[in-house]
Amino acid sequence: MLDITTQLTTNPKEKPAVDALGFGNYFTDHMFILDYTEGIGWHDGRIIPYQPISLDPSAMIFHYGQSVFEGLKAYVTVDNDILLFRPERNFARLNHSNDRLCIPKIDEEYALEALKQLVNVDREWVPNAPGTSLYIRPFIIATEEHLGVHPAKNYKFIIIMSPSGSYYKEGINPVKILVEQQFVRAVKGGTGEAKTGGNYASALKGQEIADREGYSQTLWLDGKENRYVEEVGSMNIFFKINGTVITPELNGSILPGITRDSMIQVLKSKNIPVEERRISIDEVVEAHHNGTLEEVFGTGTAAVISPVGELKYLEEKFTINKGEIGEVSQMLYDTLTGIQTGKVEDTFGWTIR
Ligand code: PMP
Repeated sequence: MLDITTQLTTNPKEKPAVDALGFGNYFTDHMFILDYTEGIGWHDGRIIPYQPISLDPSAMIFHYGQSVFEGLKAYVTVDNDILLFRPERNFARLNHSNDRLCIPKIDEEYALEALKQLVNVDREWVPNAPGTSLYIRPFIIATEEHLGVHPAKNYKFIIIMSPSGSYYKEGINPVKILVEQQFVRAVKGGTGEAKTGGNYASALKGQEIADREGYSQTLWLDGKENRYVEEVGSMNIFFKINGTVITPELNGSILPGITRDSMIQVLKSKNIPVEERRISIDEVVEAHHNGTLEEVFGTGTAAVISPVGELKYLEEKFTINKGEIGEVSQMLYDTLTGIQTGKVEDTFGWTIR
């Protein structure tokens, strides 16, 4: 199982210009594949040239959505090394999602070794302009050819990688967020804390409504009372109220973001009060009305931090911190991106070279 074979491409692709990168548009020369067969387990790990995969139309992934995925990044440092940021947490979370979706667990150490070898093979693909990175997408799909509804007997674990452009071309830009009223993303006991395709499919409708109204993402409230804040788009959310930073506690329906966890640790290390607890949208609105809502920001791998400049709830629009980035948001952004690019000493031991 611990073997990984490598077949290098004989036909390397031309690399796109940095300005043309965007997100998720281009893929590197190689990919990693590992198969699962019932009775054998995970086997035949291999790095091969990036290519389409062929599946039978009855492959269960097409019908019942049994799949999980992850998202993480590799960064070029100031001294031209390549760093991965807390990748072991992504594979641990992948296994957590596997458990929820009845997918057999992977060996996390093996997956990390495979990832390191894959990044090394495609190291020329890690862009090094400021703010750019190599986005890494590990995922697992059910490949058994069958139409009965049950956990599949066969799977593929695949890692693909995509050079991605700078999220913020001209400094950090605050985003506009719409509090979703009609739809919910997840419910207690559902799949909210797993990173599985269905959660993203069910969120598209809310995102479409937000887009139509000129908002960049949806803020999801809880699925029972439509009252407590959960998360925003594909980010966790934080509020700074009267000097204390508050983020919704992990309750089973929120994705446990790795950036979220890192932010909490950085805040604690700087002695900034931080609380993980239930927070209602009414508390946020009240804090805004009495002038104590100081900063709102989302956190996630893609942007690290997205300050929220405007929030719309029911028919009311709130401008937060004059639509500018707050002091704590800026500090967190500088600290995390500094660690990721080797500019700030990694006292937390988060990066792997
Ligand atoms: N919530 C959701 C729904 C997400 O898709 C993501 C992105 N993975 C996050 C939060 C943030 O997680 P992370 O910080 O690990 O990227």
